[in-house]
Amino acid sequence: MKGYIDGIMGTHGALFFEPYDDQPDNYGHWRRHTSDDPDYKVRNMEKMYNFVKVGLEAGFVPNVHAIGTKGVAEMLDLYERLNNEGVDLTGFRIIHAQVIRPQDFPRFKALNVIAEVNPYHISDDMRWMEERIGYERCKGAYAFKSLLDNGAILSFGSDWPGTSAALYHMHPKYLIYAAVARKTVKGTPEEGWFPEQRISVEEAIKAYTIINAYACFEDEIRGSLVAGKLADVTVFDRNMLEIPEDEILQTEVVMTIIDGKIVFEKK
Ligand SMILES: [Zn+2]
Repeated sequence: MKGYIDGIMGTHGALFFEPYDDQPDNYGHWRRHTSDDPDYKVRNMEKMYNFVKVGLEAGFVPNVHAIGTKGVAEMLDLYERLNNEGVDLTGFRIIHAQVIRPQDFPRFKALNVIAEVNPYHISDDMRWMEERIGYERCKGAYAFKSLLDNGAILSFGSDWPGTSAALYHMHPKYLIYAAVARKTVKGTPEEGWFPEQRISVEEAIKAYTIINAYACFEDEIRGSLVAGKLADVTVFDRNMLEIPEDEILQTEVVMTIIDGKIVFEKK
């Protein structure tokens, strides 16, 4: 069940504690789930709290979109409140979690909350991120290594088809490359965008497979190549764990198997 805290980076709508560098009066905005104000400028997190409670009673865990530092912090606060009320947060997600304050990284593990993030955002957003939120805040942007280092459960998704600001790729090679190289699809910048946040191919593949199965409460039946699990398999034409980083972009899918049936085969 998806909820929304704030807007998106592409429209200067993600919510921050400090204004945008290139729009000094703009802190971003709330959404219908978190505000009663027609312009979404006034906070009402009780709406989100009640929304989550109604969902829980109906058997759904919350998957909530939160993008700016304030959006993410507000959602962590709300999950902390539920945790203090005795709610088990297993499977609860913060979706996108694009820009995180240093003090909020350890809270994902402390609350046992999943960070469901989208590596391809880097390849697209790096063009203007620093201009919009400045160097310091960018250090906590798409900071997958910091999330892992702080023990967060890291789940990756394509966020396909994208946003009102951009369309995204869905081919796995672009999605893995974005997490590992932190470059555009043209291979820039050479050293990667905030390269200290690069992660390994293995960590990226885990986040796209077994951790996603866990996030869906299905890791017992899918998400890894183990006898007895459903045969959901993507076969590539080379071993991404062994090739140089730049070759990831030349990788092609030769076969896709879903539940034991071949649904795609490259001719
Ligand atoms: Zn979203």
